[in-house]
Amino acid sequence: MVRARAINDALTAYYGAPAPVHIESRRDPLSELILVVLSQHTSDANSDRAFASLCARFPSWEAVRTAPTPEVADAIRSGGLATIKAVRIQRILNQILERTGRLDLEFLRALPLSEARAFLRALDGVGPKTAACVLLFSLGLPAMPVDTHVHRVARRLGLIAPRMSAEAAHDELERLVPAEDVYRFHVNLIRHGRQICKALRPRCAGCPVNHLCPYPRTHGETARAAEAARPAGAPTSDAQGVVQR
Ligand code: SF4
Repeated sequence: MVRARAINDALTAYYGAPAPVHIESRRDPLSELILVVLSQHTSDANSDRAFASLCARFPSWEAVRTAPTPEVADAIRSGGLATIKAVRIQRILNQILERTGRLDLEFLRALPLSEARAFLRALDGVGPKTAACVLLFSLGLPAMPVDTHVHRVARRLGLIAPRMSAEAAHDELERLVPAEDVYRFHVNLIRHGRQICKALRPRCAGCPVNHLCPYPRTHGETARAAEAARPAGAPTSDAQGVVQR
């Protein structure tokens, strides 16, 4: 937890503190949930366009729920995987209606984080990242969405085990990062993953958390030479990665 805090502070010093999501600009939790479903496997720009198109085409979530699925798919075409997402959205709306009697998730605000998360996770097609996005961005709760950048950077930094899945990393990173720091940690790890700790060629030499990261030592010239001399079938340096928290 001490290292997680030091990393968070160093990234904040480098990238700045992310602007808070003001309460008045937050989407209601059901709208956020639909938007996050639309964002699966596509860019923010595409999912934003699909969400705007869906809202323009249908006057209410009830209208989306009861519409013919091809019409919903047509409205969200720009978000990709339109039929799959249309089916998923209608199934989620049906389940919310069955379980609560209305198409509204505002009641989640009154629940503890664990209960709000459990409700969302029980919906078909809602995984840990989707649930965490709704909890963090709409409800302002300290849930940690782990996308590809957060997952990769956290592994390289040794905050999570080298082979820990993104799913498992949600709980682990929430355990490591104090609740009040979750938002800036999430945002700055994404910035870092996009700008410096890139998937193929991390720019370790100019990295603001280089001094806190085991990756250059295990993947630098020495590590690459050891990797080249490694007998076939022996564990990789990734498998031997250091986990330091
Ligand atoms: S030192 Fe390299 S691997 Fe570690 S966080 Fe920085 S860019 Fe990523």
